Amino acid sequence: MNPWFAKAVVLAASIVMVAIRAPHGERSRRIKVVKSRRGALEIVLLTLAGLGFLVPLVWAAKPVMAFADYALRPIPFVVGVSLIALGLWLFHRSHADLGANWSITLEVRDKHQLVTRGVYRHLRHPMYLALILYSSGQALVLPNWVAGPSYLVVFVLLVALRLGPEERMMRDEFGQEYDAYVAGTKRLVPGVW
Ligand code: SAH
Repeated sequence: MNPWFAKAVVLAASIVMVAIRAPHGERSRRIKVVKSRRGALEIVLLTLAGLGFLVPLVWAAKPVMAFADYALRPIPFVVGVSLIALGLWLFHRSHADLGANWSITLEVRDKHQLVTRGVYRHLRHPMYLALILYSSGQALVLPNWVAGPSYLVVFVLLVALRLGPEERMMRDEFGQEYDAYVAGTKRLVPGVW
């Protein structure tokens, strides 16, 4: 298949992701942060996540990673596009359900409420699942060994290192309400973990 199909998907998916996030980023800037756990690790992880998001766009724009290109095949392409679409849908849903309680990093906002409805009813980290689905899809769609898995690699690292601190922050903030929520939900994989 012509690699331009992959370039078009990567570009369109990135635009949709930015469009979903933009109004929430804008709103969250206006809501006061009352507690922050944005330490050095968070800054490193957020920087890596930003780079992991940009590398596929660089691949689409310039042939700097051409040494790692391989041929695009229809089956991984179709599976990848489906995972990206599912990831974007869940990314949108989790933003809609978290609403004003969303932060890009580990923060408690003014009037923060524990969200337990919508996609948060069964899973504690649907937005991270959305981004894992999206980045797995991108790894399949983008026929380059460096740019394809770049977002997936940094995102798996971010999730692995952030879940514990995030859940501790939520426990410290919401106490027994959070314990009850944890008891009735899974972390990332519905019905499994
Ligand atoms: N881990 C969640 C949210 C990611 S955004 C997910 O994957 O869907 C990260 C911020 O959202 C955290 O810093 C915390 O402030 C907030 N947050 C996470 N879970 C929440 C919940 N159930 N209710 C309210 N805020 C939550």
